Amino acid sequence: MKFSKSLSLSSYMISAVITVHIILSPVLYTVINDVYKSSLSELFMTQAHNVAGILAEDLSGKNLFIQKEDIVSILDSAILSGDIVFIDLISKSEQRIETHDQLLNTGSLFKEDNFINQNSDSIYFISVPVYLMDDEELSFKLRIGFDESGVNDQINSIQQHVIIIILLYILAMVSVFSFITYYIHKPLKLLRQKSTAIVQGDVDSPLHVSTSISDIKNLSQDLDKMRITLLEMANNMQVQATHDELTGLPNRYLYTDRMHQAVSLAQRSDQSFAVLLLDLDRFKEINDTLGHGLGDKVLKILSQRMLDGMRESDTIARIGGDEFSIILINVDQVSAESIARKTIKLIEPLIDVDGHTLNASASIGIAVYPEHGNNPELLLQHADVAMYSAKHNNLNFATYHSDMDSDNYEKLMMVNDFKSSIAKNQFVSLFQPKLDLATGAVCGCEMLLRWKHPYLGLIHPDKFIPLAEQENIIGELTRWATSECLSKFREIIKSSPNFHVSINVSPVNLLDAKLLNSLLDILETSQFPAKNLIIEITENVIMKNPETSAQVLNLFSDAGIKVSIDDFGTGYSSLSYLQKFPITELKIDKTFITDLTKDSANYPIVKASITMAHELDITVVAEGIENKRAHDLLVELGCDRVQGYHYAKPMYFQQLTCWLDKESESGASG
Ligand code: C2E
Ligand code: CA
Ligand code: CA
Repeated sequence: MKFSKSLSLSSYMISAVITVHIILSPVLYTVINDVYKSSLSELFMTQAHNVAGILAEDLSGKNLFIQKEDIVSILDSAILSGDIVFIDLISKSEQRIETHDQLLNTGSLFKEDNFINQNSDSIYFISVPVYLMDDEELSFKLRIGFDESGVNDQINSIQQHVIIIILLYILAMVSVFSFITYYIHKPLKLLRQKSTAIVQGDVDSPLHVSTSISDIKNLSQDLDKMRITLLEMANNMQVQATHDELTGLPNRYLYTDRMHQAVSLAQRSDQSFAVLLLDLDRFKEINDTLGHGLGDKVLKILSQRMLDGMRESDTIARIGGDEFSIILINVDQVSAESIARKTIKLIEPLIDVDGHTLNASASIGIAVYPEHGNNPELLLQHADVAMYSAKHNNLNFATYHSDMDSDNYEKLMMVNDFKSSIAKNQFVSLFQPKLDLATGAVCGCEMLLRWKHPYLGLIHPDKFIPLAEQENIIGELTRWATSECLSKFREIIKSSPNFHVSINVSPVNLLDAKLLNSLLDILETSQFPAKNLIIEITENVIMKNPETSAQVLNLFSDAGIKVSIDDFGTGYSSLSYLQKFPITELKIDKTFITDLTKDSANYPIVKASITMAHELDITVVAEGIENKRAHDLLVELGCDRVQGYHYAKPMYFQQLTCWLDKESESGASG
């Protein structure tokens, strides 16, 4: 296991100082010691040689025979100086003249020294020549021994002093550094405390630290600037996340939160509150005819008017393109209705914008807690129903009532909500497999759209395709759906090169000159081969516009896309007539198939269709097979392909891939 221990600044500084001194102290000690030692020794030796020189001078020329006593007394007097512990004169012929002091006459121990403390006898022995009576023959050596203990004591005491001085020096350095680090550490510690407080949520206290150390002062100022900037950024982000960028009003997210707050507040205080849902009338027209820029300006002006006219405790939120909602705290139905009236008055005055004078109007739906719902979702849904009722009945506002025909409002709701459904990503595509009847193998699938409405749930295409055609967004929807789905099939087509995907094309699509090109673009970007795409067109469409249909379908066919006639049998067309079109597949409508028996009137129709289609080299698909009986009859009739709940219901792509895997496994094992 690894531990990483962090130390404080002062610990670092003090340990650094101590470490440096532990390394330096012996060096310092040795250097100082050596200097002192050598200078003291030098002094001692010089003095010894001087003393010896003076004595030798005193002795030279003395007559040994006459003045021997003088010579001895010179030697004796030398001893009096105290430092000398040995002295004699010795001739070449080993004749010795000694002092009277018997203790010092240990001549046999004399060992000449070149430097102090040599020969470990604690005596510095030196000798100098002495010429008695100027006679070469009588030349002596004056031998002197100086006591070394005095100088050694001095050296020792100096060593002790040096140690003490060094220790004092280290102590002084540690104290100085401790003071310096404390001086630096104190503001840093304060800075740390303040930043910890920020981490713990006290973001409003400034980070300033007053100190004379400019680096720390600047750092604290910079950190404080950073705190302020981050605070501003966080505030902006919160505003952006909870407010509508255009109007600055709370967005749907904040609105939902406020609704929950309002419900719990009302529950606690046993009060009522009201939800107003306001939808601008004909706003799409303004956008479409005068442009989105102007539409945005109108929304801003109206938001401001409402904001100015409301109490601060009320929440006005923009919850959709031209949809606003107002939450009125502690308000009952009567007050809510009078506020709705007031709101309409705020909206009605003419709007002057970019040289245009516009008049806006709105429809308001009202739902009151707890009568019309005890949770935010239900209240909003009922305010919505009330709003559609107001619109439908040409009223400025309406309050929810359980009698309001929800079917009717569902339709109105759908019409209104459909406009923004693509932008809100509310569509999903399902896929229903198609099987080869002879082999039972999967040969392709049909894409079937669903609209995921926020309140009404999954809505089938029969309900919304007409709306898409009415609103003129069917082209956009088809393009969206194909671009969404085709790329998903790349892998499947790689492993099953004949697998095809069928898409339904509405009559309005067929008249859209741009559709083919956009489909070709989608095929290219999805890397989906044109030959694997089938477009399904209902028989009725072709019958209504035979010429245009033929032209358009030929273009598709030329581009490699296959064409299938959908819902065959409902349009009273003859197959021989359809021969004029580039058709490769025919789908017999499910009304003929679902309850197909040998006795039913549908049987001969199905039979004839299959026979004739085969003669024209057209593949026949039967759809709507719900049971084994229909399946068996279609086998008997030689139908090529089948599609129906009996095999598989429309499913999400993910489910389809699992289903295909299972099919191929059971196919392989069967
Ligand atoms: P369709 O092209 O005739 O599609 C077959 C319809 O029959 C699908 O209904 C499918 O779910 C349903 N069906 C399949 N097997 C059975 C069965 O065994 N029994 C019964 N009773 N029904 C079965 P869905 O998905 O509700 O689609 C309805 C129609 O909406 C489609 O009829 C098609 O014309 C149209 N549609 C679907 N998706 C699109 C699209 O993306 N664009 C356009 N323009 N139209 C679409
Ligand atoms: Ca179809
Ligand atoms: Ca059909």
